[in-house]
Amino acid sequence: MGGSLSVDEMGQIGVGVDTRCRELYNAALTERKDAYKYAGKSVSYYDQQNDLPEIKAEIRQEYQDIAAHVLQDVLRRLDRAFQNFFRRCRNGENPGFPRFQGRNRYDSFTYPDGAGWKFDGQDLHLTKIGKAKVRLHRPLEGKIKTVSIKREVDEWYVTFSCEVGAPEKLPISYEDVGIDLGVTHLATLSNGEMIEHPRYYRKAQKVLEKRQQALSRKKRGSHRRNKARKLLAKAHRKIARQRKDFQHKASKKLVERYQVIVFEDIRIGNLTRKPKPRQNENGKYLPNGAASKGGLNKSILDAGWGAFVSICMVKAAWAGRTVIKVDPKFTSQVCSGCGQVRKKDLSERWHTCDCGTELDRDVNAAINILERGRRQRGVTCVEAPCL
Ligand SMILES: [Zn+2]
Repeated sequence: MGGSLSVDEMGQIGVGVDTRCRELYNAALTERKDAYKYAGKSVSYYDQQNDLPEIKAEIRQEYQDIAAHVLQDVLRRLDRAFQNFFRRCRNGENPGFPRFQGRNRYDSFTYPDGAGWKFDGQDLHLTKIGKAKVRLHRPLEGKIKTVSIKREVDEWYVTFSCEVGAPEKLPISYEDVGIDLGVTHLATLSNGEMIEHPRYYRKAQKVLEKRQQALSRKKRGSHRRNKARKLLAKAHRKIARQRKDFQHKASKKLVERYQVIVFEDIRIGNLTRKPKPRQNENGKYLPNGAASKGGLNKSILDAGWGAFVSICMVKAAWAGRTVIKVDPKFTSQVCSGCGQVRKKDLSERWHTCDCGTELDRDVNAAINILERGRRQRGVTCVEAPCL
């Protein structure tokens, strides 16, 4: 839930805070890096938090103007970045080391609890900073738990996360569904229905490319470059909003209609990874399918599968519905009629089997996904086949 802040007021009071928070973030990152490099020691969140009072009292007194919990939240963000980094290393991935944050990357600060701010429905008062008028995008519900203030391009936003009472659960539905997420259609349902990919991204892609080119022609550090960068950021923001909006609408429909929704447990990272370059014996590069996969990658990213499934899970939990993820292995190869494996490559869009099953390839997969979900829950299919 959020609102816009008056740009002028926040321009005066916010810029200083986000700059100092970013400085703190970068300084804390330096400390962690150096401690490791020169002493082989790791520095924890609590080590750094314990230094805050001294920093405020003696070293940088301008930090006294910022609520203690906001500064702690900065250190927690860094701690999360490290934890994600180590987790991904343990999983055998190859993540980037936590990075120093530039002005355009670190642009928000958070009040993690009730301290340091007050909101009277119109003005947001920030202790030691000042107040700014808030234009709410929709009415607030429940009790405000955290307040985040964020600069996006040249506008300021405040996000309130609120604790609300448990919503009413939806009445039980007797319809379940298996969903195959794909490139041809965003989602194919086990009952044969499809959800198409939103088309806006391809269109918006053109705008993005144009603005990207315009940006790259501008001189570094110039005023015009800054302007071009803002235009590009706005185009990205528009796409992100459209995508989110689409995902919310599509997931709402699914959750309202089905009791159990089964997805494949897809590791999107594996699908969007770039193909390895191939060389022949003379060292010449051979086609590796990167160009054709470029289109595929794009579609996968367009669809934002991961985000879509997550939104479905959250909505389902609120509504008393269930989302299950199942092993995706061979879901498109196995015949949903008889269980035999019918090998096919990606270009074969139709499933034909000796047992008489004739189906769209993705619908066949979706039925298999639904069956796996039911087996996982220990429920067998008692109704007639889903088509
Ligand atoms: Zn069959």
